[in-house]
Amino acid sequence: MKIIPCSECGKPSAVNLAYAARHLCAGCFITHFEKRFFRTVREFGMVRPRERIAVGLSGGKDSVVLLHLLSKLRKKLPFELSAITIDEGIKGYREATLKVAKKECRKLKVPLKVLTFKKDSGYSLDQMMKKTNAAACSWCGVFRRYLLNKGARELKADKIAIGHNLDDVAQTVLMNMMRNEPLRLLRFLEPLSDDAHLISRIRPLLRTPEREVAMYALLKGIEIKYSECPYAHQAFRQHVKGQLNATEEKYPGTKQRILASFIEMESLMRKGIEGQEFRISHCSACGEPTPAPRKGMEEDERSRTCMHCRMVGQLR
Ligand code: SF4
Ligand code: ZN
Repeated sequence: MKIIPCSECGKPSAVNLAYAARHLCAGCFITHFEKRFFRTVREFGMVRPRERIAVGLSGGKDSVVLLHLLSKLRKKLPFELSAITIDEGIKGYREATLKVAKKECRKLKVPLKVLTFKKDSGYSLDQMMKKTNAAACSWCGVFRRYLLNKGARELKADKIAIGHNLDDVAQTVLMNMMRNEPLRLLRFLEPLSDDAHLISRIRPLLRTPEREVAMYALLKGIEIKYSECPYAHQAFRQHVKGQLNATEEKYPGTKQRILASFIEMESLMRKGIEGQEFRISHCSACGEPTPAPRKGMEEDERSRTCMHCRMVGQLR
């Protein structure tokens, strides 16, 4: 096999960055990876001195690598770091990643808060799926976002850090376009409302391809569990992921271009809605934030209750 030298130092390369037409050795790759992370945090002003950041820690590779990188950033920037793990109650899947989350937090001395679907609603995701024919991921998403926001507020966090990588973001952009959900797209980088109950989210890995997160974890000896959620095959996301990976293979750089075009579109779209009010009201059952009915629409019992509480109502 032909050995390709590292584009930086000439040593034998270990990683091929096809989108940048570069080959890097392990050491240069780690430097490149970490530099991109710190640059992205700076570029979007994601972490400011003395802020409280709560990492949404599933225990999968992306969130664990994010925890390590934020922990490293703390050596340069003084801020508080904690983690929240949501246990959906998916038998044979979540137990293993929960173990990793606990172990990594102990290792990095980061306090961890664990919240469960079962304790919140009385049902694990597995039990919910026995009661409804709905798609697991839509229900899981609503409860997970709800608990993450609530948990972060209880920790008095300023921001929630999510381990979404470049692949996740490019998929989300395409999915929201395919589903005609422009408002979801618009609030992806920043909430549309400044309601104090809504904790904003940061995605410091948004410029990092998924493959590189896995490679970094491997090279740094970070433990990774490669199990897949048993409901994942149902997801529309899986379909989009397959298509996107095939396109990237043929046209390297596609994912980066989708992100770049989204960032540009997002700022133009925000200008387009300047002055419009996106009101948030608070759920009459649980008090958590929920979109208020649009102007001219009548308020009824349904619109006063958040999606999470409506779903819990359907289970009972
Ligand atoms: Fe939840 Fe779907 Fe992700 Fe499984 S694949 S954890 S059901 S969102
Ligand atoms: Zn509610």
